[in-house]
Amino acid sequence: MGKYFQPEIETASREQILAIQNEKIVKQVKHVYENVKYYRDLMDQKGVKPEDIQSVDDIKKLPFLTKADLREAYPYGLLGTDLKNCVRIQSTSGTTGKRVVAFYTQKDIDLWEECCARAIVAAGGTNEDVCQVCYGYGLFTGGPGLNGGSHKVGCLTLPMSSGNTDRQIQFMMDLNATILCCTPSYAAYIGETLAEKGYKPSDNKLKAGIFGAEPWTEEMRRSIEQSLGIKAYDIYGLTETSGPGVAFECDAQTGMHINEDHFYAEIIDPDTGEVLPEGSKGELVFTSLDKEGFPLLRYRTRDICVLTREKCPCGRTHVKMSKPMGRSDDMLIIRGVNVFPSQIETVLLNEGYTPNYQIIVDRVNNSDTLDINVEISPEQFSDIVAENQAKERKLEIAMRTMLGIGPKVHLVAPRTIVRSEGKAVRVIDRRKLHD
Ligand code: ADP
Ligand code: ZN
Repeated sequence: MGKYFQPEIETASREQILAIQNEKIVKQVKHVYENVKYYRDLMDQKGVKPEDIQSVDDIKKLPFLTKADLREAYPYGLLGTDLKNCVRIQSTSGTTGKRVVAFYTQKDIDLWEECCARAIVAAGGTNEDVCQVCYGYGLFTGGPGLNGGSHKVGCLTLPMSSGNTDRQIQFMMDLNATILCCTPSYAAYIGETLAEKGYKPSDNKLKAGIFGAEPWTEEMRRSIEQSLGIKAYDIYGLTETSGPGVAFECDAQTGMHINEDHFYAEIIDPDTGEVLPEGSKGELVFTSLDKEGFPLLRYRTRDICVLTREKCPCGRTHVKMSKPMGRSDDMLIIRGVNVFPSQIETVLLNEGYTPNYQIIVDRVNNSDTLDINVEISPEQFSDIVAENQAKERKLEIAMRTMLGIGPKVHLVAPRTIVRSEGKAVRVIDRRKLHD
């Protein structure tokens, strides 16, 4: 197998991709208008008819959908076809509130798995690989998506699901896993556990990792690449549009190609909803061009990123999205300053700490407080109190430079911060308890 899973479409010219998108969107809008009352009502309120959408340029006329709509329409309100045509549901992780469910026909699942297969091949996967999938299986899309993709590529698939790290490592070593799929925080944990068991990075057969489902920094990437001795690829997706594989990284590691034959992407100003010119940073909005079960049009992801059409050395022509460094609702506003957890992660890893940290935000005497618990490794631990304090002060200064506000840093003993097997919970915002 070559370096693409579906070479024709992955390297199609811009004109060819546009032609595919234009053809699909006309059909999809008509289909949604006729079958999804919830969205038909939104279009009617906006005075938009299916005939008004003749190409992807017209998508901006359509109303947005938000997570609040999905919760309101729960469970069947946005279903795009008869329930009897659907074969599966999946559900969001509920990271930011009530879970929503998405429906899939067999065709939806096939296309989704093809997207994941594209990601695996882009990471160097072939039918000779052993692909260990330790994303959660079940309602969460990570396990089922990568599992299906791995089958399509013809890899020997290890359907591990998340957790039971000792067993993960046993199978990884005994069955010579070459590709690892999980969240980046779990990959870091697996790397840490391997080292604790006395393995060197060169002792495993892994060559690549496909990590996503949560924000992670470039520093975290380098740290995982070192601890596992692999090349780490990013993968992005959300349940609402299918799951992982909406976009994936290639060898260039400079952003993720969005599967534009299935998803039309826009960047909007999150405050005004206005579509921003190419290259602007803003909220990512997806229109699924051919989903049957759950055909969302103009779904606001709340993920903040930038799109670029710069030519990619890998030969793929699909637009690339930058790593979303957290959702608009992950952003903490602390004493009026915008803080992303990813900024804190960058400082910690640059200063030689592990990615095990916890951010605690609170409000004391009407003023916001920011505390960061940072776990130290046994080598970093000192019996001399003053030495630890000096390290804390140094980190506080580095944080203030990065964030624009000064946190309080507390070094905590090795192994005291709970490890994540799925999406890591980095922030505890106690202010919400007082509201
Ligand atoms: P939930 O919204 O409950 O977390 P999902 O499990 O569907 O439900 O997660 C989708 C979200 O996960 C995306 O909207 C995005 O915020 C985040 N995400 C997925 N992949 C990545 C990635 N590679 N980098 C950063 N964030 C990601
Ligand atoms: Zn590329």
